[in-house]
Amino acid sequence: MTQELSYDIVVVGAGPAGSSAAFSAAKLGHRVALVEKEETVAQTVRTSGVTWMDSIKEFEIPEYCYNPVKNYGFCSPNNEVVISGKIAMAAVLDVRKTYRWLAEKAQKQDVELFLNTTITGAARDQHGITLSATSPNGEISFHCKIVIDASGFQTIVGKSLGLTTQWKRFGAGAEYEVEAENADPDTWWLMVGQDYSPAGYAWIFPLGGKIVRIGVGVGKPESPLDPTERLKEIIEKKLGPIAKLGKITPIEFHYGLIPNDGLSRKTVYDNLILVGDTAGQANPLVLEGIRYAIRFGRVAGETAANAIHRGDLSEKSLISYEENWKKAIQSKINSASKVQARWIGLSDQEWDKELDIIRELSIDEFLDFIKADFGLASIVKMAVSHPKLAVRQLFNIVKGATGK
Ligand SMILES: Cc1cc2nc3c(=O)[nH]c(=O)nc-3n(C[C@H](O)[C@H](O)[C@H](O)COP(=O)(O)OP(=O)(O)OC[C@H]3O[C@@H](n4cnc5c(N)ncnc54)[C@H](O)[C@@H]3O)c2cc1C
Repeated sequence: MTQELSYDIVVVGAGPAGSSAAFSAAKLGHRVALVEKEETVAQTVRTSGVTWMDSIKEFEIPEYCYNPVKNYGFCSPNNEVVISGKIAMAAVLDVRKTYRWLAEKAQKQDVELFLNTTITGAARDQHGITLSATSPNGEISFHCKIVIDASGFQTIVGKSLGLTTQWKRFGAGAEYEVEAENADPDTWWLMVGQDYSPAGYAWIFPLGGKIVRIGVGVGKPESPLDPTERLKEIIEKKLGPIAKLGKITPIEFHYGLIPNDGLSRKTVYDNLILVGDTAGQANPLVLEGIRYAIRFGRVAGETAANAIHRGDLSEKSLISYEENWKKAIQSKINSASKVQARWIGLSDQEWDKELDIIRELSIDEFLDFIKADFGLASIVKMAVSHPKLAVRQLFNIVKGATGK
């Protein structure tokens, strides 16, 4: 027999977007269910977990959840640059600890967490939306006023309602978490060029102690390459900075997909909000989306809660969510997409030269660049008055103007 359950808001997916949305909706006094298909939160890790110290402080992520990083290495086939800071500006998250901390925060606000429960379909009804789910205890129907679809790449609710289609452009990433004899916990590496990835990059991200994550990301459909195969090859060949790691002992394998279609999706409908990867909210330069998932997850939860308070569940009533996140990141993502378009076409020789340009950036300029954290004013400033011509030209491309 199907169990019938009713909530004000049902959030699908206990990733960073879903747990954050559930937390903020429940904080405003609503009955919220958070539904996750895996047996535990973050049972499967699908991400490398790099984020930024300013976001960590903003979200008050506890220290036991991350390893701070202050040196940023970038290497191409015949060039290398390491930009170092006095204090750590970036960090690598322990993904399981962080995602569980977020889900526990939601539970402390009385969110009901359903684990091992898979949403299989969605239909509109007179009160809102009914979600069908399977669980070890049988079928469940979740009735609610508003659904927040935070199911990540799959976008189960958006697809079931016929509102979204599969992402056409996306990144596929494979990664080993390993113990490395000579791991340097303060330094990360981004590795570019054909041998690492013909459309993307490879990485070494330190987790603290002797643990690092070595990975390869490949843009689809630009390249047919299997990132797992390439990852095994570069580890076997000990390419570039991998050689410095010494003996490598694999601990765990991670694999994931991330949308790379820009901000192409509509993210609010009557009774429905899309957030995180379902909304395509990722920085296209390095395909990082965790901080956006948390930030806009919170906004999505608040927006849904306020709409219920007002008794208006229409798209118009929820549109402030879309306005909020677009105001915050749309122009940055569009600028970063221009750099991504340039980077995806670079040959090995051109990458070697690109690193000479990157070397000219100050640490703040470099990090704002990688974070896609440039406002129009800072792009224009760099394009007009940076002392180095090559940097001015790079930022003219970002600006979309003709460089001089
Ligand atoms: C290889 C790789 C490396 C990355 N590295 C970084 C990085 O270094 N830094 C960074 O910021 N970002 C990185 N990202 C991106 C980042 O992982 C995502 O942007 C982020 O996880 C988005 O969070 P989310 O909550 O929207 O989705 P997800 O984290 O994907 O969470 C979705 C949740 O929904 C659940 N779910 C799915 N379908 C259903 C269903 N039918 N029923 C119930 N539950 C369901 C899933 O099990 C999952 O728990 C990387 C991505 C990949 C693929």
